[in-house]
Amino acid sequence: MIERFAYSIRVARIVFSVDALAELLPELDRLGPGRAFLIATPGRKGEVEAVGRALAARAAGSFTEARVHVPAETLARAAAALQATDAAVLVAIGGGSAIGLAKALARESSLAIVAVPTTYSGSEMTDVWGTTSGEEKRTSRDPAVAPRVVLYDPQLTLTLPVRESAASGMNAIAHGVEALYAPDTSPVAALFANEALRLLAASLPKIVKNPGDLDARSEALLGAHLAGMALQLTTMGLHHRLCHALGGLGLPHALTHAILLPYVVAVKAPTEPRAMAALSRALGATDPAQGLHRLKQALGVTERLRDLGMRPEQIDRVARAVKPSAGEESARFEGVVRGILQAAY
Ligand code: NAD
Repeated sequence: MIERFAYSIRVARIVFSVDALAELLPELDRLGPGRAFLIATPGRKGEVEAVGRALAARAAGSFTEARVHVPAETLARAAAALQATDAAVLVAIGGGSAIGLAKALARESSLAIVAVPTTYSGSEMTDVWGTTSGEEKRTSRDPAVAPRVVLYDPQLTLTLPVRESAASGMNAIAHGVEALYAPDTSPVAALFANEALRLLAASLPKIVKNPGDLDARSEALLGAHLAGMALQLTTMGLHHRLCHALGGLGLPHALTHAILLPYVVAVKAPTEPRAMAALSRALGATDPAQGLHRLKQALGVTERLRDLGMRPEQIDRVARAVKPSAGEESARFEGVVRGILQAAY
């Protein structure tokens, strides 16, 4: 018997193709006649300049100083640069940092976003947006900020360094894992999550061995797309809440996900047998937490939280700050979170 489920779906246009970036101009035409404002992190500046040249008069300007977790001051500078143009659409080229800044700008300006993802963050498929002020990261959902068009071009991911590929890939895996045991999971979300996990677990080790393997890059990017769908269709759980709190402390986003995930899965395993069985199948492992530890090792992720600059006294602070959500046992919760952080420290 299939249990009751419910989910909301949004409309977006997805183009997945080697050389999809060449389709940017026709895709902009489909959206309307306006000019485009290009957004990226400093490392993607060369790509933005090339895209600007290709768009010629359709390019209204650019901002290439996007930073992880959208600091409020970065948003203010980007908004000022955007306001000085007549742009009618935002084009984010890059990972979750560029796409995240575009979302925050879209919230203020109501402009549509075209996303060209170059990492495996999955942000391009979601309506989750956020900003950071001091040590506090705030996130929320708003359908208006979800990209309207997504161009997936696996060629653009060939330059993503092995370390970032591994960490970002584990970030995508975390979306799939938490979608499987989300309170609002569904057979549809599980479909996306299972295939995402299978593709990512198979392709990421190949990428680490040979970053120029375009087949593996394509599979990982498709996995990231499906993981982003799974994230959009569900409410993320303990792992994402923990990473969110650690992100507020300034820890690198994707690597924090990579380090913590096996420890969170070990804690979740006893109460989530169905999700764990699916995860074990996708990883080809008998124990899902061990399977994730092995995958992490194969990807060369050897760091612990202390290596990312987390201080020991911050363990208690984060353990107190992360709150249980509906369905999570509250009496032991703080101790469980502290245990996860200590194990990963
Ligand atoms: P990122 O966007 O910060 O990119 C990491 C680094 O890789 C940057 O220096 C960037 O310039 C570089 N880079 C990106 N693509 C490259 C490429 N193809 N070749 C060479 N270098 C490349 O990292 P990320 O992990 O993609 O994004 C992290 C951010 O995304 C965080 O702020 C996180 O909160 C957010 N995020 C949001 C969602 C969501 O649904 N809203 C989901 C996942 C992540």
